[in-house]
Amino acid sequence: MMERFDQFMERANAAYYAARDPFADFVTAPEISQVFGELIGGWAKIVCQMMGSRTIQLVEAGPGSGVLMADALRVFTPASVHFIELSPRLREAQARRVPHAIWHDSLATVPHVPTILIANEFLDALPVRQFVRRAAGWMERYVEAGAYVELPTDMDLADDPEGSVREINESALAFVAQLARRRAIGLFIDYGPAQSAAGESVQAIRDGEYAEPLAEPGSADITAHVDFAALARVAHVQGPVKQNAFLTSLGLFQRTDFLAQKNPERAETLRLAARRLTAPEAMGSLFKVMAVCPPGFPPLPGFEA
Ligand code: SAH
Repeated sequence: MMERFDQFMERANAAYYAARDPFADFVTAPEISQVFGELIGGWAKIVCQMMGSRTIQLVEAGPGSGVLMADALRVFTPASVHFIELSPRLREAQARRVPHAIWHDSLATVPHVPTILIANEFLDALPVRQFVRRAAGWMERYVEAGAYVELPTDMDLADDPEGSVREINESALAFVAQLARRRAIGLFIDYGPAQSAAGESVQAIRDGEYAEPLAEPGSADITAHVDFAALARVAHVQGPVKQNAFLTSLGLFQRTDFLAQKNPERAETLRLAARRLTAPEAMGSLFKVMAVCPPGFPPLPGFEA
């Protein structure tokens, strides 16, 4: 069987999230500190007021263990909570933390009412198409029997030097465009450069270590950097800003200090977590935050600068 790389990645990740415990392989921001989800809950509360609507549904795409939403709901109470999640196993974990959520396979079935959507490390798990520039022109990558195969493509790509790789995340572009058509507000937190860049960013993590993406599909989490500039061409956006600027402006350190004083036995852990989320050499700089909103919407919290 030969399949296009994005089809391979989609199949491999569906198998991975269905069968594995992703948090044994990688740690995400909401798993590091409860303050992450609390700040996003506070953000949603203010955005809800800015939208001038009393009934807002809060949607999360790719909620993982459900901890981000559980933390956010201590700060903000939306009219309803919707989860977009394919993995039955993760849905069970999410139901333990947020029993009243309503689950969906995709955005298509989420009700058309005023919406705030949040997504942390969701877009990076969606499948990318990969193109390689050869002497004869651009080729697209396919996978056959665990190896890359290249076939000519009609895709209209900039004329990069021979050997260059370009990635296009059509699922992420479609998701963001669909959200924008609904005039929803979306908050996307993910890793990737602010400017589109040539180069291969696909990586696989198996048992907490870098692995070969094509080996044993379903045993590793395959991700690609998010191309924020490309997303900004299909929707009106604010940002991206670096995660450390965003979290700092929402009050990460004040909230951390408050919790540390109330819980001295956890003070050190809380402070280390805040540093990990913001240090440029940890998650503060490579991770970006971008909001999707209708054109003309005033600056959202964390995006004022
Ligand atoms: N947001 C969580 C989990 C990130 S892992 C956190 O920050 O900890 C990626 C999440 O996206 C998982 O919940 C995974 O099951 C989900 N996911 C991946 N591809 C998906 C798809 N195509 N549709 C819906 N959910 C998807």
